[in-house]
Amino acid sequence: MVAPLRTPWWLEEAAAAADGDEASEPLSGPLDADVCVVGGGFTGLWTALAVKERDPSAHVVLLEAERCGAGPSGRNGGFLHGYWASIGRACSVLGERAALDLARAGERIIPAVRALGGEVWLHESGMLSVSTTPAQDRTLDASVAAAAAVGRPEQAVPLDRDALAERIRSASFRRGVFFPECATVQPARLVGVLRRKALEAGVELHERSPVRRVEDLRGARAVVVATNAAATGWRPVRRHVTNFGSYVVLTEPVPELLAEIGWTGGEAVVDGRMFIHYFRTTDDGRVLMGSGSGPIGFGGRLDGRFTLDEPTAARAELGLRRLLPGLAGARVERAWGGPIDVSADHLPFFGTVPGTRIHYGLGYSGNGVGPSWLGGQILASLALEREDEWASLPLVRRPPSLPPEPLKRIGGGLVRAAILAVEEAEEAGRRPSLAARAGAAVPRRLGMRIGTR
Ligand SMILES: Cc1cc2nc3c(=O)[nH]c(=O)nc-3n(C[C@H](O)[C@H](O)[C@H](O)COP(=O)(O)OP(=O)(O)OC[C@H]3O[C@@H](n4cnc5c(N)ncnc54)[C@H](O)[C@@H]3O)c2cc1C
Repeated sequence: MVAPLRTPWWLEEAAAAADGDEASEPLSGPLDADVCVVGGGFTGLWTALAVKERDPSAHVVLLEAERCGAGPSGRNGGFLHGYWASIGRACSVLGERAALDLARAGERIIPAVRALGGEVWLHESGMLSVSTTPAQDRTLDASVAAAAAVGRPEQAVPLDRDALAERIRSASFRRGVFFPECATVQPARLVGVLRRKALEAGVELHERSPVRRVEDLRGARAVVVATNAAATGWRPVRRHVTNFGSYVVLTEPVPELLAEIGWTGGEAVVDGRMFIHYFRTTDDGRVLMGSGSGPIGFGGRLDGRFTLDEPTAARAELGLRRLLPGLAGARVERAWGGPIDVSADHLPFFGTVPGTRIHYGLGYSGNGVGPSWLGGQILASLALEREDEWASLPLVRRPPSLPPEPLKRIGGGLVRAAILAVEEAEEAGRRPSLAARAGAAVPRRLGMRIGTR
């Protein structure tokens, strides 16, 4: 039976802890702002805070369509990291020097979250990448080689089967890699703390205030579009990004089962699939298992594909049962999903609409909890027209283009199905069909990336 699709547990837990924090008033009357930020997720909130830090006299207005954290920021896995875990991809996209600049800038993310205090359930326990098939072994080897090649081997430490079992035991795991630069958070609590800090800093916040057209925000001297997946159909960026669904399941508290499999160190874990499984524990001993294999969007529309897709939630639960058989007795209490904004090269991008003071940033491709802090620094610099270290980060760029709709949806959907078929066959120890292998190889041949890895 598929776990019931419900409100993200994070949001309920954070709301109970905040004890009835009221939504702020919708915007009524004309807008008057130095900087208007559209979107109250991590990107928008970090941007608003960064603008106020750099220019306390700036009048910052933040407009959020629902409540802060209603989007992916309140419903994600809570993996918090920069770019050391993907340094190989960063080098191949940006070149080695720019990738190193980015990875070093990303080292400032966890300290920035640490500075917010203990309320956000920050655990600095690193991340494990585990392989369950020979093909996934090669993915692990590539990560280790990439970190070594840039002279930072300590950022991707190989673990043989025994060393991995000291951190987490599963009959499905072959071996692993440990990435020290990763933490986990309770994401909805992080949103709540950022929202409170923004209000304390004097940001004028209006929730339940959807913006219909950014071009109409004429009362703002600069506008920052921080609506993430909701911007995927917006003309200035739509050729560079598409949306995939990602779904998680959450178990009841099972601290005694976690002790039995030795997973008590709080490490975040991912497998080596293209459409990854990602899993972690919570402070009360639950396990969250996510699958990035959800449906691909069409034309930037955020419809039921991203919150109501039972097959993807079922795949996340299947992942839980396969990857962690020691948790067979753990009951899954609920599931939920959300959209992931995937760029053609899987790195986010930031910029300014030519001839305007409208700035944007998106394309986190499933790694936005940490990088949205970088995004906030970059967007604050763009909005304040500062030519500083943030505005010159290599993420201020335009990524390669994706095909136009409906090709983006149709082609992406076919390739997604082929990759899923290949990875499922490999996990079952079968040879994937020729058609599936051919379909799965298409993006590589075109120099594109698909999936959420
Ligand atoms: C299931 C799932 C698991 C994930 N797990 C991880 C993870 O473990 N680690 C990780 O790094 N990343 C993860 N991600 C991705 C991560 O959550 C996002 O990259 C990140 O939250 C993006 O933050 P954001 O502020 O840019 O966007 P969002 O959180 O989407 O915020 C955008 C906000 O804009 C608002 N908005 C939209 N349209 C309008 C409008 N017209 N007017 C006003 N407001 C508007 C929305 O309501 C929303 O609150 C996951 C995503 C999902 C869906």
